[in-house]
Amino acid sequence: MEQIKIYQAKNEPVLSYMKGSKERSDVEETYNQMFNSRVDIPLYIGSEKILTNDRKNILPPHDHKNVVGTYSVANKKHVENAIKNNLKVKESWSNMHWSERCDIFLKAADLVSKKYRAKITVGTMIGQSKNIFQAEIDAACEFADFLRFNVSYLTEIYNEQPIDGPGKTNILEYRPLEGFIYSVTPFNFTAIGGNLCASAALMGNVVLWKPSDNQMYTAKIIMDIFEEAGLPPGVINLVSGDPILISEIALSHPEFSGLHFTGSTTVFKELWKKIGNNISIYRDYPRIVGETGGKDFIFCHPSAKIDSAATAIIRGGFEYQGQKCSAASRIYIPKSISDELISKVVEETKKIKMGSPIDFNNFMTAVIHKDAFKRISNYIKYAKESNDCDIIYGGNCDDSVGYFVEPTIIITKNAKFKTMQEEIFGPVITIFIYDDSKWKEMLNTVDSTSEYALTGAFISEDKNSIDYATRKLVYSAGNFYINDKCSGAVVGQQPFGGSRASGTDDKAGSKLNLLRWVSPRLISTTHNPPTEFKYQYMD
Ligand code: NAD
Repeated sequence: MEQIKIYQAKNEPVLSYMKGSKERSDVEETYNQMFNSRVDIPLYIGSEKILTNDRKNILPPHDHKNVVGTYSVANKKHVENAIKNNLKVKESWSNMHWSERCDIFLKAADLVSKKYRAKITVGTMIGQSKNIFQAEIDAACEFADFLRFNVSYLTEIYNEQPIDGPGKTNILEYRPLEGFIYSVTPFNFTAIGGNLCASAALMGNVVLWKPSDNQMYTAKIIMDIFEEAGLPPGVINLVSGDPILISEIALSHPEFSGLHFTGSTTVFKELWKKIGNNISIYRDYPRIVGETGGKDFIFCHPSAKIDSAATAIIRGGFEYQGQKCSAASRIYIPKSISDELISKVVEETKKIKMGSPIDFNNFMTAVIHKDAFKRISNYIKYAKESNDCDIIYGGNCDDSVGYFVEPTIIITKNAKFKTMQEEIFGPVITIFIYDDSKWKEMLNTVDSTSEYALTGAFISEDKNSIDYATRKLVYSAGNFYINDKCSGAVVGQQPFGGSRASGTDDKAGSKLNLLRWVSPRLISTTHNPPTEFKYQYMD
């Protein structure tokens, strides 16, 4: 049995982008260059890069009249060819020695953190409207971390072996799944786009990748990085365009063997149903991994400190315009500290600047697209018209230049108000004030208010209350934070995912996720096989 050294991954340091720093001038220069040019993004099928006639424009959400490129729309034939091509390279890729596969993705991580750092960060600022810090922690750091930590998990998994029996050697071979993996990814994290195909590929699988229309700008950079790192053509094929058409073809293929999805709950349920309906055409029972929506909470105990609670609420609720699956959107505050805490939150929120991501003073920029803008505006309109709540800050929306929505704070007297229950996916938080003496009962309300169970935070200086809440909210969140905001998971430190309507909780950025992309085979060798059928007890 080959002894495998465990690879020790380290988190990519987050750069500061302080005034006068080299990284800041690199980003400014790259931004100007990329924002004022155009890129045409092809389909990636094997070694072919196909620019189709059918194209869609790429428009920065904060400046939606400036076309920065186009992406290609795949037709039925393209998708079929992409799968055919995936399957053609399957054998050579899965037979490649694991250490060579690891080397490719480690090289990709180095390219992300060095040569391509400014480009992929700026791509995320332009294409997904993240401010510099949000782009840095996603596209540069989290992506590099996923690639490196996955290598570490692979070495741990391959080392997990059964014991030998008397006269027998037992080996678990961590085979990739037969067939191909279909990876469908969201707009909101460049790193998730890259990781959902890279993690399965690292384990020896071939992957058909369908990125979000609103992440295509950085999807291209990811494919270029993989290619430069030496990933053989066809291991990851990228097809963009109509998600329904592409999914229909992928999910009705007999060799479809796994779905690696991140996105909304509704879409995931649709895909799961399609897989269920097609179950008899597949060779294998497909693996289904989906990380989906959230309605994430911050619960402040009466002992909570005002400043840290206010910071958790503002950062948790408004960073990346509330478009993180982990963003705080329902806040529970005890009456005794409500005046002071709410005033502090409003006072600080007033200081938030919003605009283009290239102005480094801006904490917030635009929301991702017209539909998101409409959806969020409709929630705000609903709140404005409701007798059950008051908007105490924000509430204005303007899509004339970009899709800008003010950070918005709602207070409701109804703990089950619509905006306390549904995922808005925008910069809108709703506060409910509770009676201090009922804080324990309130935890039942926290648990039962929404169908989701992704992230949550409990802010308290009281050890007993922390212990109580940690137990009481055991199924309310897959990532539970004490005295922090409920977002900002770091690969290797806070494996990420939730249950209920929030997903299959296979914890992206952990060994658990990689285990879904292997089908272990036990190989048992008997050294001196028995030569007689009778057992001793028969004598
Ligand atoms: P989305 O569901 O609209 O899109 C996700 C992907 O599914 C995209 O590639 C999209 O093109 C595709 N898609 C859309 N409609 C489809 C259909 N009918 N059939 C097949 N595929 C389809 O989500 P989004 O707006 O890109 O991302 C936001 C959502 O993702 C939020 O709900 C958020 O909570 C969730 N999210 C969850 C996590 C997590 O780890 N739990 C992380 C990021 C985002």
